[in-house]
Amino acid sequence: MAERNERYSGLFLHAHDTARGDRIINFLCPEGLLPLFIFGGPKSSLRSSAMPFTLAKIEVYRDSRSDFIKLTGVNVLETFPGVQKSFAHMQAATGAAEFVLRTSAFGGDSSEALGMMIELLRQIEGLGEREAEFALYIFLWKTLGPLGLAPDMERCGRCGRAFSERGCMPGRLLKGEQNILCARCAEERRREGFPSSAMIVFDEETRRCLIAIAAQSYARAAAALASSAARGNSIAIIESLAESAAEGPLQTLRLFQ
Ligand SMILES: [Zn+2]
Repeated sequence: MAERNERYSGLFLHAHDTARGDRIINFLCPEGLLPLFIFGGPKSSLRSSAMPFTLAKIEVYRDSRSDFIKLTGVNVLETFPGVQKSFAHMQAATGAAEFVLRTSAFGGDSSEALGMMIELLRQIEGLGEREAEFALYIFLWKTLGPLGLAPDMERCGRCGRAFSERGCMPGRLLKGEQNILCARCAEERRREGFPSSAMIVFDEETRRCLIAIAAQSYARAAAALASSAARGNSIAIIESLAESAAEGPLQTLRLFQ
């Protein structure tokens, strides 16, 4: 048989319309990221249930002679009205979806990506507008672990000295790189010609802030980030690491600035 029906459970992530007026929506499920075609005009009932940030069981028709997967049925399991609370809430969800798409669902770890998206969408409801502005950074920071890109917070990524050793702090993250360097190694790189304007300060306050937010709920992490004196450095470090992981600028982060 060249064609078959299949069932999946997961999350609608991002939709766009083709020139012909058909819609393509990316669906994240443990089996991977599926680009689904929804045929029919704006009044189609499939189209109204297949909205971004909806958790659903779906039925698709796959024609193995061509690439397309056609959405044929949707059974909505959960919606996340918190996403609509404010522009900041929507931006956080959209940015997280952008990051999942750009990293091909964390380099193929779709189950982890799905679990983290659902965690964000469930918790975003409980955030105020100000806290929601930090939700995307918290999501990005929490994802770097599963991606294998979380830098060592205890030791210099170049010489291996503990940051607690004398003369090692404040360290630096060199923009575009994955490891945090101690003060001495950063100074050596500066002498070799790395511009100090592209170095982000990693002091003890920043270290504590980053460690704290990785382990906390979104509400607590947002409150910790909002009140930290190291907020600017922490956000700059997260942004630089996330854009390295995505191999380029993230549009949603650019909109925030
Ligand atoms: Zn070092």
